[in-house]
Amino acid sequence: MPTDETINQAPVKIDKIIKEKIQEWVKTEQAHQLGFYSLAEFVTRASQEAFEKYVKPTDNPKRFFMPNNENHLLDLDLDFYLQSDKIVCVTCESENCVHIKTINTDRTVKKHIAKFLKSIKSRQNQ
Ligand SMILES: [Zn+2]
Repeated sequence: MPTDETINQAPVKIDKIIKEKIQEWVKTEQAHQLGFYSLAEFVTRASQEAFEKYVKPTDNPKRFFMPNNENHLLDLDLDFYLQSDKIVCVTCESENCVHIKTINTDRTVKKHIAKFLKSIKSRQNQ
């Protein structure tokens, strides 16, 4: 009979060698300082972090806006998210569309997007 604690849990099969290494490591002081006390906690947090990194970014797109002072029809307005350090266009759900090609080829845009990405990353690491 499942308890309240186990009712939202499910078993997962992982490689035996990595399982044993994690089980040893979670007994160390370093693991405890980082908040890990069991294999389950480690696997849960690792899974959450991978999910946030690879899947969830779509829930939180970034907006890059670069005005064109000569023709406002040429303003660059791009919603994107980062997936494994690749820029993915929200509109096209692609990392290879005309928008992404523009930011990767136009020298001026490239310079501004690099600066923008740097500011995002420094905010994420705080
Ligand atoms: Zn696009």
